[in-house]
Amino acid sequence: MANSQDTNFDAIVVGAGFAGIYMLYSLRDKLGLSVRAYESGDGVGGTWYWNRYPGARCDSDSYVYCYMFDKKLLQEWQWSERYPEQPEILRYLNHVADRFDLRKDIAFKTQVTKASFDEKTNRWTIITDKGDVVTAKYFISAVGCLSSSNLPKFKGLETFAGKLYHTGHWPHDGVDFTAKRVGVIGTGATAVQAIPVIAQQAKHLTVFQRTPNFCVPARNGKVDPDLARERKADYDSIRERIRNSQFGFELSVIESSVFDASPEERERAFNAMWDQGGFRFWLANYQDMFFKEDANEVCAEFLRRKIREAVKDPLLAEKLIPKNYYYGTKRQPLDTNYFETFNKSNVSLVDVNETPIEEITSKGIRTSGQEYELDIIVFATGYDAMTGPLKKIDIRGRDGQSLSQKWAEGPRSYLGVAIAGFPNMFTITGPGSPSVMSNMPVSIEQHVEWISGCIEYMRQHRIASIEAKADAEMEWTAHVAEVANASLFPATDSWYLGANIPGKPRVFMPYLGGVGPYRQKCDEVAAKGYEGFTFPE
Ligand SMILES: Cc1cc2nc3c(=O)[nH]c(=O)nc-3n(C[C@H](O)[C@H](O)[C@H](O)COP(=O)(O)OP(=O)(O)OC[C@H]3O[C@@H](n4cnc5c(N)ncnc54)[C@H](O)[C@@H]3O)c2cc1C
Repeated sequence: MANSQDTNFDAIVVGAGFAGIYMLYSLRDKLGLSVRAYESGDGVGGTWYWNRYPGARCDSDSYVYCYMFDKKLLQEWQWSERYPEQPEILRYLNHVADRFDLRKDIAFKTQVTKASFDEKTNRWTIITDKGDVVTAKYFISAVGCLSSSNLPKFKGLETFAGKLYHTGHWPHDGVDFTAKRVGVIGTGATAVQAIPVIAQQAKHLTVFQRTPNFCVPARNGKVDPDLARERKADYDSIRERIRNSQFGFELSVIESSVFDASPEERERAFNAMWDQGGFRFWLANYQDMFFKEDANEVCAEFLRRKIREAVKDPLLAEKLIPKNYYYGTKRQPLDTNYFETFNKSNVSLVDVNETPIEEITSKGIRTSGQEYELDIIVFATGYDAMTGPLKKIDIRGRDGQSLSQKWAEGPRSYLGVAIAGFPNMFTITGPGSPSVMSNMPVSIEQHVEWISGCIEYMRQHRIASIEAKADAEMEWTAHVAEVANASLFPATDSWYLGANIPGKPRVFMPYLGGVGPYRQKCDEVAAKGYEGFTFPE
């Protein structure tokens, strides 16, 4: 790494995924700042560096799951599939890092452990696990929303004699499941991708399910070259459309109630969305689906019917059917033969509501019903989302205040990008911004560009520090909650609310107000001279 002797920077960026590498590029190449990024992994890519489990791929359509900031980059990169696999997305992010010569300013295999703000100098001091101590005017978190794996503390975990893996920390040289008895714990979006692939190889696969999931078909396939050409020619408008959309996709809701349509019309509409695949059924359904219990139930029933059609054994189908939460209020898994996989003779399901997991033993998993002997256990148990990676760093703002303490009752932020009491610190896709309720590259680009604009403004006006006002933060946090509470989302136990982590405060973290309106709000704040911020000397 160049400049490895330097200890004073304009900005420190933590993380080298989609967010970190674009932030580094923007500050270094567009604003001419001195920047260092730190990354715990041994390469760029973030999510796509860590998540190498079988079947790992994006669920966003590839033509929008990419950067839009550079026209040449958009034209030169070709995605092979509608939803490319992890190695292809990782290749893309490596290509970006090489193209813009970013690697030389990233310290890999280095974890930021502490960051504290000094009011006398208006600078941050950042400390890493490698012993680096550096200072910077700006401290920018690009730590990701889903980068802190959640490994539930089962009794006896350390006694297991076989191999144990978490999907979010998958070995780089892969795992051979041939002739192995495999257990997968979890049935979220990751498990829905992994289970059909593992089942093709394993001698026997036992799936331990706590919450059944409403899946919709991915309908993956090769990208049609004509369509790819059309899209490349149209990228300027695509970019505008997704930046001003609700969720960062080219998807629009049906602007009527589920009940305005006759049962036949509704069935046709549902089937059309089902056939189209992807997030269409989830994010562009009838407009009352996320808001009215009875409307939601009609959509849910359609999906339950599809599960009954796919699973041959009716008793098994009933176990795989979600019955006690609203459709769409958990992250939507996209499936390729997920339910059909349970028809295979080498796959079985254990409902841990009926027979809870009591312990991991040296031989496998013991539930209240029996012991399952296993060679490999795969934890598809997700992440301590959004606040997890930030809380792992000892972040101290004004007066030594700790971020973890400030957020003990749940995250509070202004626009999800700044925090009162933490001057000159920015959080890319932090809690309180659309983040995980959007196609993330769109939200990441918006945040990176807004932060760069703010820093440029500070330079032009010779401003030493910027800080969110406490009342602006309070109002924004209340607004985020109000928007969420108008929907059915907070009624469901999900990782959006922290419900998967014991003891985590139950606060709906992403902003549901929409990518377009959120962008407009951020632009207005900037246009009004950073309304809601102060500039303490
Ligand atoms: C399996 C999976 C599938 C997904 N599919 C989609 C999808 O289809 N569409 C979509 O929009 N989003 C998807 N996401 C969300 C995905 O996380 C984002 O799309 C995007 O990759 C986030 O980029 P990021 O740079 O913000 O964070 P990340 O990619 O998570 O990168 C953050 C990086 O920060 C590093 N880091 C964290 N803390 C520290 C520290 N203290 N010190 C040093 N380094 C640190 C981490 O090692 C990590 O590499 C998916 C997520 C997962 C897990």
